[in-house]
Amino acid sequence: MSVAHLSSISKSATPVGFDSQQMLTDLAGFFDERQQAMTFYFGSAGASASSHEQEDCRLRSLISHGQSTVPGAETDLELLRSLESEIRLHPRLFRAVFASSKHELRHYIVLPVATDVGVLHFGRHFELLQLMRALEASQPYAVFLVENGKARVLKARGHAIEECEELRQEADIGLHPHNEREGWPHRVDANAEERVDRFLRQFAENARDYLWSIGGRQVVVGCRNAVWNKLQAEFARIGVNKTDRFHLTGFGMTLPEVLRLASAVHYRLQELGYKAFWNTLSADAGHASTDIEEILKHLQQGRVRQLFLGVVPECERMECPSCDSWYPVGTAICINCKNTVYATPVAELIVRKALQTGVEIIAPPPERLHGMQTGALLRY
Ligand SMILES: [Zn+2]
Repeated sequence: MSVAHLSSISKSATPVGFDSQQMLTDLAGFFDERQQAMTFYFGSAGASASSHEQEDCRLRSLISHGQSTVPGAETDLELLRSLESEIRLHPRLFRAVFASSKHELRHYIVLPVATDVGVLHFGRHFELLQLMRALEASQPYAVFLVENGKARVLKARGHAIEECEELRQEADIGLHPHNEREGWPHRVDANAEERVDRFLRQFAENARDYLWSIGGRQVVVGCRNAVWNKLQAEFARIGVNKTDRFHLTGFGMTLPEVLRLASAVHYRLQELGYKAFWNTLSADAGHASTDIEEILKHLQQGRVRQLFLGVVPECERMECPSCDSWYPVGTAICINCKNTVYATPVAELIVRKALQTGVEIIAPPPERLHGMQTGALLRY
């Protein structure tokens, strides 16, 4: 993912690493009393580089609508217009722009996620829920192809995959396919097996280090069954537990083919993780909550350890612009500081409070939610 100031918007939008928790916290804490904090999301799931007219059209109609409804936003809208040519080049990327020209704040985020979205919103706060879901959908994971003492090393995120050629492993483990036919003594086969085991042991440790280096959580391996049985044991030994495999049809598979098989495994692992977490939340009434009002209170008190952003009710709360209070819809004045309160979507309120208090957020993409609601795991 690339995070850049809009001054560099005309440069390549090739996604690079995202390491800015601070940027998210800053976005969550931003407040514009003139209601001109601009949130822009754009992406196409089914677009191709050759049929860009529809994308151009969607983008222009978003901008012209913004123009007619928000006076004084011309500078920020102009920045969006400069995106047109980039979108045309890479229509299947997810893009987010957060800007407020008066505060000279501009962030541009690009993720390798194909999703149909077109949002242009001006308000007191940036809208961050969609960004959190796109970040989750583009979490990096490690992919390995393992066969006969050789391993290919790859990193996948969303619909992007790249091979790390310099980490490719090839060990001479003395495997000769004609051993049996040539009647080699049994002890030679035993030695070869030992070398395979040693290779897999070392490989599992290298795989764990690589996973850490890319900031990923899952390992997906393409290999044959016999190799997987041994590798699974090695991964368990060193504490790498979010792993699964696909059947390796050939060591020289193309990148699109690897991505197709690996991403299916990755999504399955993600869904299992979401379901397990949701079950923990809904089963543990003492240290978890799935009630929106309670979650808001726990966030206020700093009690939330992890927030699961499932389905969030489409309702609003009244928020005070100067203190951290919020009230039911219909409230006009903050009890604490007598300020006029304003309506804000409850989903955005939860996301902002969670980001501002350093809560770990798990925000599955909508197609993986299967009706799971929002919940919080508490610290105590
Ligand atoms: Zn207040």
